Amino acid sequence: MYKIGTPLGAVTGIGPALLSIFHEKNIRTVGELLLSVPNRYLDNSIRTTIANLVPGERATILAQVLKKSGFRKGKRSITKVAVQDETGSLQLMWFNARFVQDALQTEHEYFFSGVVGKNGVMIQPSFERVSDNTIHTNRIVPIYSSTLGIMQGRLRRVLKEIVDNLEETPDSLDAILKEENDLTLVAACTELHFPSEAETAVTARERLALEELVELIRIAKTKKEEWSEKKTAQAISINEELIPASIPFTLTASQQACCKEIVADLTQTTPMNRLLTGDVGSGKTVVAGIACYHMIKNGHSAFIIAPTQVLAAQHFQTLQNLFPDLNVELVTSNKKASSFIGPRLYVGTHSLNNLLDQVKPGIVIYDEQHRFGVGQRSKTTADFEHHRLTMTATPIPRSLTLTLFADLSHSSINELPENRLPTKTWTIPERKREKLYKWIDKQRAENSNFLTLIVCPFINKSKQEGAMHIVDASSRFKELKKEFGKKLKIALLHSRLPVAEKEATLDSLFAGEIDVLVSTPIIEVGVDIPQASAIVIESAQQYGLASLHQLRGRVGRAGQQGYCYLFSQSNQPKTQKRLEQFISTTDGKKLAEFDLNNRGAGDLFGLKQHGFSFLQFASWTNFDLITKAQRLEKMLPKNWHSPLLHREQSQTISAN
Ligand code: ADP
Ligand code: MG
Repeated sequence: MYKIGTPLGAVTGIGPALLSIFHEKNIRTVGELLLSVPNRYLDNSIRTTIANLVPGERATILAQVLKKSGFRKGKRSITKVAVQDETGSLQLMWFNARFVQDALQTEHEYFFSGVVGKNGVMIQPSFERVSDNTIHTNRIVPIYSSTLGIMQGRLRRVLKEIVDNLEETPDSLDAILKEENDLTLVAACTELHFPSEAETAVTARERLALEELVELIRIAKTKKEEWSEKKTAQAISINEELIPASIPFTLTASQQACCKEIVADLTQTTPMNRLLTGDVGSGKTVVAGIACYHMIKNGHSAFIIAPTQVLAAQHFQTLQNLFPDLNVELVTSNKKASSFIGPRLYVGTHSLNNLLDQVKPGIVIYDEQHRFGVGQRSKTTADFEHHRLTMTATPIPRSLTLTLFADLSHSSINELPENRLPTKTWTIPERKREKLYKWIDKQRAENSNFLTLIVCPFINKSKQEGAMHIVDASSRFKELKKEFGKKLKIALLHSRLPVAEKEATLDSLFAGEIDVLVSTPIIEVGVDIPQASAIVIESAQQYGLASLHQLRGRVGRAGQQGYCYLFSQSNQPKTQKRLEQFISTTDGKKLAEFDLNNRGAGDLFGLKQHGFSFLQFASWTNFDLITKAQRLEKMLPKNWHSPLLHREQSQTISAN
């Protein structure tokens, strides 16, 4: 008998050669092999007689071998076998399968499963000695992915050997589910590979999806518990107004609520581990700033870490303006921190992580993260722990916050500042380009603050095949200089410019001295240029919905009408559908739903790269199952983990 944890070497029929193939694929135990899920099934379960065979329909017959013959035709070997049952006789034929002649013995009976052609011949049938426990015939048969590099028949035999001898072990989840008439884990694994009926393959998957969700919630909860046992963070006290008077606008109700939730966490010694979501332009920066403000007023430093230098430089400016009485310092790979005196607000890129041990900030805030919880957290060597806040404009479906991200607390800004107008969005054909330029010119003539952003996917012309038509920033800049050069101030921004040049451009951009900025998507995340009113997205087919939404989020941020124009060189239906979805709404949540449907959660949240590939049964959209999993998880003993899915600190879930 085998258990889920039995090493594959102990399975009858797995020799050293096969074992090493499995090991190469990192499949070491019975349980891990059981997770090589069939891609599909062949229904060989329909039994009939030779006389009743229907051309084109798959069926199984029990017949006796009459005559065998083999010959060559060109490069192919052909094997012909005649069989009969009590209703008639039938011709079978195989190509390049000379073993068949030796395997079949005349006058013996076998099951043959296959499809009979219009000519009355059955081509390449599977066959097997008659028994009541067949593997390849007379039943529903699994088909596995060919990526394992093992012949279907061989893999099937091994898995049949396993499921036929798989032992039930006492398990708390099994016990609860048995009472609710669900399959046991062992039964589900058996039915998954060798379903007794078509429907049970579905039930089996559902049982395994439940196993998967319960395990996922359990892992998140364990992380949360471990986290909450730490009592090492700085607990602060709030001795002044929650919202400092220096902030020039009134916070939205939702911003205020988020500030309260965050600051409440900061008054505890348990380190905060919170996610702050809010659509582009909802005003996350000021909320982050307020959290830092109170931390610093309590005598501890704060970090805000941005994904790009451009965004870090911008936050540095913004936060200085919002909190004039704080000591704010910019740290990037080009600009090191000054020697440390007193608590301050450090704003920078990931290079700030190097200062963690030295500065021991009371709070670290990550801006514009697209991956959360998993693998993104900074490590400190010291025994102190800081409060953490992760900010993102990507809306997170509730199904994920209930499972995968259940270890994080969650605050959400669910409204935009009052004065915002939805940005008007169009796709425009190339022939209207001149007209668009005239329009830009006119807008700028009427309003000296009117800034247009022109975003191109690449810095320079791509030499790659298939990418030659994609608009690049350098050529577009040259063209536009000719077009507008005399009248308007036009600038170029991309990551490969010399640092001094880049900084000069950013300075004049934030000072409002530029009319048209040609750039790469370097401005995509987070950058706040309130006077930006129009954005032209070149080669828009190159972007996904999330990026387009981020780009469009750059304009109309000061309450003026924003405009977004898309040029696309693709007439692929998929791309057109995406662009239509984009034009149809400015609501980030709706766009994220479209994205989830177009691409699936794995892509969207970068989970695939983080080893969540074992999420093969559950679907993020099956809310009922998620709710059931939550209920079950609460009923399980403290140390329970899934015997099938749990790996000790292994490749499946790479937390921290
Ligand atoms: P995001 O959530 O995309 O990071 P930002 O924090 O950059 O948004 O804020 C976008 C713009 O809105 C900034 O110019 C900011 O000053 C402004 N802003 C933020 N909150 C408010 C508010 N309550 N009322 C008016 N303007 C606000
Ligand atoms: Mg932001």
